[in-house]
Amino acid sequence: MSPGASTEDTFRRKDLLGLRFLSAGEITHILDVAEQFRGLNTRAVKKVPTLRGKSVVHLFLEPSTRTRTSFDIAAKRMSADTFSISGSASSTTKGETLLDTAKNLAAMHPDIIVVRHRRAGGAMILADALPETCIINAGDGACEHPTQGLLDLLTIRRALGGFAGRTVTILGDITHSRVARSNIWGLTKVGAKVRVCGPPTLIPMGLEEWGVEVHHNLEEAVRGADVLMALRIQQERIPRGGHFFPTLREYSRLYGLNRDKLRRWARKDVVIMHPGPVNRGVELEPEVIDGDWSVILDQVENGVAVRMACMYLVLGGERAAAREGRG
Ligand code: ASP
Repeated sequence: MSPGASTEDTFRRKDLLGLRFLSAGEITHILDVAEQFRGLNTRAVKKVPTLRGKSVVHLFLEPSTRTRTSFDIAAKRMSADTFSISGSASSTTKGETLLDTAKNLAAMHPDIIVVRHRRAGGAMILADALPETCIINAGDGACEHPTQGLLDLLTIRRALGGFAGRTVTILGDITHSRVARSNIWGLTKVGAKVRVCGPPTLIPMGLEEWGVEVHHNLEEAVRGADVLMALRIQQERIPRGGHFFPTLREYSRLYGLNRDKLRRWARKDVVIMHPGPVNRGVELEPEVIDGDWSVILDQVENGVAVRMACMYLVLGGERAAAREGRG
């Protein structure tokens, strides 16, 4: 199924490319299925036969710690066979294009290719070219990181009980962040209010048209927010010689969160999030990362369940269960 607007309340797509293509109903459905998988991750025996006989290729052409491990654990806990290819070990370093690499992998008939690529649209190219293979976008340049957006939504829903009337402030490098984009799409669709805050150079123009409040003053962006989501400055996407703020110290003084700022401006029950990797002392001080406000490790935990749900759903798991009278 090609990307496009949907009004579905269930998920029937071959691929998961971005939250911008999904309806609120589809997003909620993925979160509900992930909630069902969550329990498996804390059982003594963490394995179900759901994806037995299926194979999953992890094609990561950009660095990753959490996302890659999380997809791998998720697939293995559902009994799929998994194969990992990283940027330095793939033939893309010998000049092969992403499409050729993927076509060759598809000729071996994997059921899912999870792909991370430094260019926006990488996953979409594969989804169009490989009609027999499910494609899951694990991050395409600065464009989208849908499973991160979904795990963030699941974490927020678990922490706050829902999205209606809630305000989420996304802080930092919005311009270069695929996490910001997926969260903005996802959160606005499910009814949360989104604010972004950072230096004007790190916030794209026209964001207000997405229904997002834009702030450059941290205090204003923090006051009244239910969630503060800090982002890393995406140095790897900033062209060499590009200077978007005077110094890291200055950035951190104006936009970093510490205990003192939270005590003065934030709600007592504010929830602190970060997709990782965190640069301690830049966007968040250690006392915030490790403090009671933080749900950063809950995000990581929920990531496994979300990825299980996504792999299960793209493979049509629910449709298969229904055909067998189990759904
Ligand atoms: N891990 C997230 C990503 O891949 C966030 C980050 O790298 O800052 O986009």
